[in-house]
Amino acid sequence: MRKAINQERMRSINKRQVFSCVKNHGPVSKKEIAELLGTSLTTVSTFINELIEEHKLTPSGTSKSTGGRKSEIFTLNPDALYCLGIDLQVDRLVSVVLNFNGEPVAGDSVPFQAPDEWEVAAAIRATIRDAVAQAGIDPAKLAHIGIGIPGIVDPDSCIVEFAPNLEWRNVNLRQLLALDQPLLIENEANAAALGEKVYGAGRLSANLCFISVGIGIGAGLILNNGLYRGASHHAGEFGHMTLDPDGPACRCGNHGCWEVFASNEAALKQYWHRTGRKLASYDHLLALAAAADPDAGAVLEEIATYLGIGIAGIVNGINPELVVVGGKIATCGEMLRNRLLKEIKERTLERTFRGLTVEFSSLGDRATALGVAEMALDRMV
Ligand SMILES: [Zn+2]
Repeated sequence: MRKAINQERMRSINKRQVFSCVKNHGPVSKKEIAELLGTSLTTVSTFINELIEEHKLTPSGTSKSTGGRKSEIFTLNPDALYCLGIDLQVDRLVSVVLNFNGEPVAGDSVPFQAPDEWEVAAAIRATIRDAVAQAGIDPAKLAHIGIGIPGIVDPDSCIVEFAPNLEWRNVNLRQLLALDQPLLIENEANAAALGEKVYGAGRLSANLCFISVGIGIGAGLILNNGLYRGASHHAGEFGHMTLDPDGPACRCGNHGCWEVFASNEAALKQYWHRTGRKLASYDHLLALAAAADPDAGAVLEEIATYLGIGIAGIVNGINPELVVVGGKIATCGEMLRNRLLKEIKERTLERTFRGLTVEFSSLGDRATALGVAEMALDRMV
């Protein structure tokens, strides 16, 4: 019995290897796959035929002749299955649909106001329906859903342990949503780091750090090409590094945390202290800065300074080759780049800074949705 189970397991692993080979190297011929995997042409042929019958692979012509016979080549069938990534933000749901090839085929950003988890659940279900309709796909082909969460999550149980800005504690999303598809959840900054790694500035970086600047500050780490979650999925909470033990109170209960000085909320407070004006939103502050309002510009410079101080600490600690700053502040990236770089350069060790690239995210508000969709895609194959 055990022998039969082991044989079945080995077969499944080998089939997955053939599939991954087409995914990573396609279009490829059977001979090339056999060479890459060091396995027999007969084994490769068997799995290729099965994967074609399952509509996961498709023939895509013949390879260029190099003197010998032309051989048939294979790629993933983009229409085989789809997955959906949703970034659950405090005031909007950003969605991305990926085809089986990992190409975005639809996406949206819908504002919502939801005071409790039941209304958020209804908004998420509506987003799933709308995404399927927008992508024009058969609902049965939506095979996996991933959701990025602004807080601490347990990815294994799909429980949101603590999301302060949603005021959620221990919300079981799998139970709450009761979806037809398998669900995965991930911290939004972790997902965004993966989004940058696969779709953004981080394609060539083995070690990168994504800094998510919002109401608070979170970070996602890709180390040695893999997402680093820490021993209990809590890694990346750099927003609560102490910058000033006697500083203003933070919502974590401590004083003088990094995010108290460098988050979007900190920016609004600084503008208020500087001008006596309370702005209704961070968008308003960015619009003022873009229109050359000197107070708004000075506040963002101050924020960039504090961002640089915190990032320098992270860079000294983990020595990444890339830091990507995301969040709405990225729309003012060009304006703030020099100030940020100057601050990081002054506070990092020379050799650490020499190999460092700092970018503002170019994925707009889609980094998290793309990252969590990519995770879902990875579970499907
Ligand atoms: Zn704190």
